[in-house]
Amino acid sequence: MTTVGILGGGQLARMMALSGAPLGLRFLLLDNVSDACAGQFAPMLVGDYRDEGILAEFADKVDVATFDFENVPAESARWLSAKVPVFPNPNALAVSQDRLAEKNLFRELGIDVPDFRDVPDLTALNSAIAELGLPCILKTRRLGYDGKGQFRIKVPADAEAAWAALGSQAATVGLILEAFVPFQREISVIAVRARDGEFKSWALTENWHVDGVLSASLSPATDTAEFEATALECARKVAVALDYVGVFALELFLCNGRLLANEMAPRVHNSGHWTIEGAETSQFQNHLRAVLGLPLGSTRSVGVSCMLNWIGTLPEAAPVLSDACGHWHDYGKQARAGRKVGHATLRADNAKDLSESLQALGRQLDREAQVAPPVARLK
Ligand code: AMP
Repeated sequence: MTTVGILGGGQLARMMALSGAPLGLRFLLLDNVSDACAGQFAPMLVGDYRDEGILAEFADKVDVATFDFENVPAESARWLSAKVPVFPNPNALAVSQDRLAEKNLFRELGIDVPDFRDVPDLTALNSAIAELGLPCILKTRRLGYDGKGQFRIKVPADAEAAWAALGSQAATVGLILEAFVPFQREISVIAVRARDGEFKSWALTENWHVDGVLSASLSPATDTAEFEATALECARKVAVALDYVGVFALELFLCNGRLLANEMAPRVHNSGHWTIEGAETSQFQNHLRAVLGLPLGSTRSVGVSCMLNWIGTLPEAAPVLSDACGHWHDYGKQARAGRKVGHATLRADNAKDLSESLQALGRQLDREAQVAPPVARLK
């Protein structure tokens, strides 16, 4: 019996555990809160990720360890890797936790990125603004997610407010200033690399965010054929450079015919949830196969899919459940503003059927605004 250890017990661990059941796998979770939602499906240790006592107990009980979120301290991952195989490797985790290290790596690999500057202090912020121009975005280098730890600087006077909001973090997690990209589309590559180096990626996904949080994803992305090979090659280069094992997401902006890499997430990703129903093998199961050294499954799309995120509260389930294209995912979490509490994926055989289902659902749930961007692409 193989036990997979997962650091983090949120919805990603939960979907991983569900996808691992047919493989006969057992799971052990480690989370710092006792009500983490994957704990409804798998045993869980509760404690601090830096606590060597709990890490030792975790390591004793698992055959391999992986992550459901990237902000596990890289030192804990390193400590654990001396006792049990850890995938992705702690160095890959450390690089992808740090926006500056990640962007430097992308540049070294010849992958275009929005122009950026390290911002160690206020003087550096002012000269970076002068160099990059306005608008631009000040971001924490580490520990930011879903648009948190970011401040948009639109006019020179915003610099002071940006520093007041984030300046105190310059000495702890670091800050980076990025040029604002007036992108036409946001695309992600969900890819997987196996222990033996085999690399596969799913069809490109187009994503729409609201207030920095993912709202909808459509895959295959429409009208992106000319960029697909470049996007996949970028993802492959990053995976090889980091000796990456497992699933990861590479987020790209498409701007005036150019692809610019925004960031990578060293884990299964929200923009890949559609793969559960919309691909031959889901990102969750292929992640498990990769970290266990099993053959990877086909990443072929099965029709066309659109995922809608439920943020804060769940809408009514019945309209999704009764739709022939509908697939409902309730993460078993308490409702809370800004929290990802579930999603639905609509999967259809063709763009027309998907568009009709999306429009009907948008009307029934009073979420026309959420479905409008993918519907516009499916015309
Ligand atoms: P991130 O946490 O870096 O993924 O940022 C969250 C969202 O903010 C992205 O998905 C974009 O919609 C937006 N964003 C982040 N960085 C930039 C940028 N340099 N230019 C324009 N929009 C951005």
